[in-house]
Amino acid sequence: MSESELAARHRAVLPNWLALYYQEPIEIVRAQGRRVTDAEGRTYLDFFAGILTNAIGYDVAEISDAIRAQLDTGVLHTSTLYLIRKQVELAEQIAELSGIPDAKVFFTNSGTEANETALMLATQYRRSNQVLAMRNSYHGRAFATIGITGNRGWSASSLSPVKVSYVHGGYRYRDAFGSLSDADYIKACTEDLRDVLQTTTSGDVAALIAEPIQGVGGFNVPPDGLFAAFKEVLDEYGILLISDEVQTGWGRTGEHFWGIQAHGVTPDAMTFAKGLGNGLAIGGVVARGDVMDSITANSISTFGGNPVSTAGAKATLDYLLDNDLQGNAAKLGNHLIAGLRDLGERYDIVGDVRGKGLMIGVELVESGGKDPSPPNAAAVLEETRERGLLVGKGGLHNNVIRLAPPMTLTGEEADEALEILGASIAAAQEGTK
Ligand code: PLP
Repeated sequence: MSESELAARHRAVLPNWLALYYQEPIEIVRAQGRRVTDAEGRTYLDFFAGILTNAIGYDVAEISDAIRAQLDTGVLHTSTLYLIRKQVELAEQIAELSGIPDAKVFFTNSGTEANETALMLATQYRRSNQVLAMRNSYHGRAFATIGITGNRGWSASSLSPVKVSYVHGGYRYRDAFGSLSDADYIKACTEDLRDVLQTTTSGDVAALIAEPIQGVGGFNVPPDGLFAAFKEVLDEYGILLISDEVQTGWGRTGEHFWGIQAHGVTPDAMTFAKGLGNGLAIGGVVARGDVMDSITANSISTFGGNPVSTAGAKATLDYLLDNDLQGNAAKLGNHLIAGLRDLGERYDIVGDVRGKGLMIGVELVESGGKDPSPPNAAAVLEETRERGLLVGKGGLHNNVIRLAPPMTLTGEEADEALEILGASIAAAQEGTK
């Protein structure tokens, strides 16, 4: 069966909103290192790592061995009602890495569930259903998380019971205060936070939830220190800070292990998923013990933290740390950002290049201006695929190319990607004339 036949069957039986990349969607059937091969035998360099899920790349012996060893015991899953050794070890490691005092960890199967859990904990702890979120945010696709999404393109339902107010600071390139210096921008956003608290809430708010770098929203980087300034205000009200590290965790941003650390502040809870499993379904919350234990009723995730996913995740986390992939992300991220900024000088459909580590956004605009250009982003996506490179796309206007390769990326692969991106942006710009 060809990929186009499979795509037709996919469209017939899966929801319309489960969007596929590319005019002719691809099926990936083999993978190794940072490269994937489709059903028609074409190989691509993967610069989206699944969706930042394959943190250390494909077919890594240490991870496969850890998963296989668990499979060999015959115990894929029994119940999280019994002790699971790897779950305990992984929780200890994440609690320690979090820097959160007296931290406790709860495992889920996805980022959505992690954020739903964090919101449940915060609203229960604070006895309030009011939440603050960032404009242009995305935190998942279940009932509470969809209700706090600050991006219309991803707001699948407006019927959520959570009462949400949005604050500035997420998407600086198109933000009302975007042209200010870092210090003035932080000041303006902090004043906005105070104003939002005063005018749209009773002050009795459970939490602010924020991505340190917005993911779906287009890899938007707020100035370092923004969340420390926010935290001072939150502390005045007793409001919790939840850092959504689903995309920014595990060293991907290069300079820090968690994205929020760039702000010099310790949150009350962090949520994680994606890269931890290197492709296995695992997520979770790490939170202050008193916040985590504010739930007294029974609660469980049947599959969260199961023996297979925790075995794979533990091996992934060890690999990330043992091989200093955070350092590699910092080094190659700087190289890529410099190369992309050079391209930005040469091609005027590149409006903005931003990012940290291996989380880099290239915002495409109409030639010579700042108007968002989804067609130019779509053209770059197709052109890169033609040349053997897979990238991501997103942003409020669906005009941002998102680059997030596995953190085991090599310098040669980074240069190969830069070359393909240069040729693809040139071809897209040529097409718009
Ligand atoms: N939070 C952030 C920042 C995300 O980017 C995503 C997914 O893209 C989620 C939460 C939801 O995670 P999942 O798709 O695993 O449910």
